[in-house]
Amino acid sequence: MELKLSYSTKKKSDKVCELKQKVAKKYASLILLSGISCLLGVYALLYNTRYISYATAVFENRNLQSAIKTFDLIILVGFAATLFILYISLDILKKDKKNYDEHRKDLIKTINSEFCTCVDFCNCKEEYIKFMEEKGIDLIFL
Ligand SMILES: [Zn+2]
Repeated sequence: MELKLSYSTKKKSDKVCELKQKVAKKYASLILLSGISCLLGVYALLYNTRYISYATAVFENRNLQSAIKTFDLIILVGFAATLFILYISLDILKKDKKNYDEHRKDLIKTINSEFCTCVDFCNCKEEYIKFMEEKGIDLIFL
């Protein structure tokens, strides 16, 4: 981008872009984690009768030892862990999104007051808004 942006605009643009990337990355990992969580959940659901038999064995004080039991229990613990991480990550993502949006709105205010260092009439701002739009950052709507 060869626009003569003011220092504050440049700084704030960089920050908004950085936050945008951060949110996008977290969102992607959240999708991945949801996928893993779903798979583990489906597994536990498919073999729910085995889980029930483990539970009744514990209840009746019987010792049910098998290799598959260990595996099943690991899956169940993994499922619970992914749910827990998802819960926490969603909260963090919400905060990051809010932070991003605040910076984006601040940038909109900035570009309306002190945008570029051009002396004459120019269309830097138009170009800039389009450029940012390509990056997925909307600077038109508050
Ligand atoms: Zn300009």
